[in-house]
Amino acid sequence: MTTDSPAPSRAPTNFLREIIDDHLAQGVHQQVVTRFPPEPNGYLHIGHAKSICLNFGLARDYGGKCHLRFDDTNPTRENDEYVRSIQEDVRWLGFDWGENLFFASNYFEQLYGYAETLIRAGKAYVDSLTRDEVAAFRGSLTEAGRPSPYRERSVEENLDLFRRMRAGEFEEGQHVLRAKGDMSHPNMKMRDLPLYRIMKAHHHRTGDTWCIYPLYDFAHCLSDSIERITHSVCTLEFENNREVYDWILDNAGVPQPQPRQYEFARLALTYTVMSKRKLLELVEKKIVDGWDDPRMPTMAGLRRRGYTPESIRAFCDRIGISKHNSLVDVELLEWAIRGDLEARELRLLGVMDPLEVVITNFPEGETVTLDAPLRPEEGEAPPARRPLPFSRRLYIDRSDFAETPPSGWFRLAPGAEVRLRWAFNIVCNSVVKDESGRVVRLECTYDPATRNQGADGRRVKGTLHWVSADHSVPVEARLYDRLFKDEEPGSGGRDPLESLNPSSLEIAAAARIEPYAATLPAGTRFQLERVGYFILDPKDSAPGRLVMNRTVTLKDGWAKTQEAIDPEAVRAERDRQRAEEKVRSAQRGAEAPLSDAAAALVSGHGLGPAEARFVTGSSALLGLFEASLAAGASPTTAATFMAASVQTVGGRDALEALPAASFAAVATALTKGELNASGAKAALAAVAAGKNAAEAVAENRPVSDTGALEGAIASVLEKNADAVSRYRAGNKNLIGFFVGQTVKALGGKADPAETRRQLERALDA
Ligand code: ATP
Ligand code: MG
Repeated sequence: MTTDSPAPSRAPTNFLREIIDDHLAQGVHQQVVTRFPPEPNGYLHIGHAKSICLNFGLARDYGGKCHLRFDDTNPTRENDEYVRSIQEDVRWLGFDWGENLFFASNYFEQLYGYAETLIRAGKAYVDSLTRDEVAAFRGSLTEAGRPSPYRERSVEENLDLFRRMRAGEFEEGQHVLRAKGDMSHPNMKMRDLPLYRIMKAHHHRTGDTWCIYPLYDFAHCLSDSIERITHSVCTLEFENNREVYDWILDNAGVPQPQPRQYEFARLALTYTVMSKRKLLELVEKKIVDGWDDPRMPTMAGLRRRGYTPESIRAFCDRIGISKHNSLVDVELLEWAIRGDLEARELRLLGVMDPLEVVITNFPEGETVTLDAPLRPEEGEAPPARRPLPFSRRLYIDRSDFAETPPSGWFRLAPGAEVRLRWAFNIVCNSVVKDESGRVVRLECTYDPATRNQGADGRRVKGTLHWVSADHSVPVEARLYDRLFKDEEPGSGGRDPLESLNPSSLEIAAAARIEPYAATLPAGTRFQLERVGYFILDPKDSAPGRLVMNRTVTLKDGWAKTQEAIDPEAVRAERDRQRAEEKVRSAQRGAEAPLSDAAAALVSGHGLGPAEARFVTGSSALLGLFEASLAAGASPTTAATFMAASVQTVGGRDALEALPAASFAAVATALTKGELNASGAKAALAAVAAGKNAAEAVAENRPVSDTGALEGAIASVLEKNADAVSRYRAGNKNLIGFFVGQTVKALGGKADPAETRRQLERALDA
């Protein structure tokens, strides 16, 4: 353990720390020495990470040492590949054992000596029962065991047999060395536990030197003692072994103070299998692509998936250490990685399922190179930037377009306007399909004035990610999901392999990413905005053939946010109806040929066919449209607003009956951003009810733009000086009260989110 190990974000206290505090206070130990003792028979998994963070963390926080010890006493399952991978993983996680790298196999000679000590003390004997007989003689939890007929062999005979076992004179299973415990002990482990067995196997380090190998219980406590471990921490299932641990050390005559064993709850995660045996089976049956498959809970798999060591340590800190087994929600691990990546990784644009968008009013062959930040603006130093090419042919994600949008759809749809991230607003004018009816291309127009947040101030609800078709590069996107469908795979005695998730890996083979990504080395992590967190696969990604793994999806907070902002079912229902009307008109537009008048609006004003058809549906409607253009409204805004207003005013007849100049005034205010969508809607409803258009527009201006909000806030704060001081003293819950008061003062017209933002600014000033 050296000092460059990571500092803990916080060292939460736990029962082990309390024990150690006591020991140090009472002088039982001067220095804490722990160990992490993996058996090199598989790769480390996230459960091991918990043990590593605990053992190395205790050593770090108490200024002690943590050993890395390979518990390599079972030669048939162990190998050097595992030894290498385990060291790599511990280091990657951020811990360093310094000089303290050990192998239990290095102690074979010493362990053998302790065995002879026990024999000489009459505390161990060579038994010659078969395996099955040993089991049958052991008894049960309710029944005492029976002594083996070989139990009373003399010390000389035991020593002789044990030495001949070592010399290789016997076959496997012929003899076994057992502790001479108590065959009626309530703890079954104490009923003459086997200590050494004959195994004619090649060991990865000691080769063929040995043909007897110590069993876990014998080797572990003595290895701890040899290394002068003070606190030997293991998982709860070893609780019953503690008595044997102490018994062996007590009888083997080890130096004092002898190590003590403490148990904590092992980590179990939902939707995850953690047993090395099962993980090995997944690998051997080629259900996954090796131990480092990004779906595996192994450290190698998590690393390749894009997890950072920091996120895994934060996760381990967060779950804490207890003495009660429980199942941890895998979402907590996902939370940890999101939190870490959100703060520091690059943000790029890429699309998974490209849908072509042609910007019909953008010149062929030209490119606008936009300049976009690589990270969110935060802190003093401005983030680095990258060039982002925009051209006539783009791709958006197919899932961001709906020909028949559901209610609350803020993405692209026929006639809708959206913003392209870091670029321009576009409006979808027409939808091109192939013979099968599949949408193959969208024809859109862009508004050059909206570059960099939109100079004309027009706000749109949706911002989409996109790439330039000709500049972006292909990337194989591996979209990983949970490996198992069951929350507890293998529960109820079933085979976990029965609950494999068939879609744990989806490959987006046609995915495209902005050209900047091609300059990044394999292993780079980034967020694809609105898509998820990714890492360029450290193994398979190469220049000219990019491969990226999805680490984790972005939190899908969208639906919840909507619910919070817009709780009224009434409004949702109105939106739904409006969307349905749009859909119907879009469908009509897509099916039948356009009239000459409608076609002229499509070609001349860039309207979508659905809107063009609607606008030319009657001379009254065309009159509203023409008046709007004359007053300065944009054609697409006027047409879309008209189509959407059928519901607002209570039907097409009512819309046709509106004074053209009044409708035009509202449509123009909407175009210029003097009104937002809901304001325009309210203004038009007022106009339909007979109000003067100029007044209706004035009354429905977004409050935050007029200064009325600031005024209302000032007077609310003044009237509630008491609450203000309580808020400033730390009672932040009062923010809800202030929002309520301000909204009330404005007759309900303030936008609660904006009000809250401004209130916080005023209160925290
Ligand atoms: P498995 O049962 O999956 O084969 P293991 O416990 O045999 O795992 P070891 O290599 O012996 O694996 O484990 C090394 C250390 O890691 C032990 O101290 C063990 O207690 C700890 N450990 C293993 N699995 C977990 C887990 N899920 N949570 C916490 N600690 C664990
Ligand atoms: Mg083990």
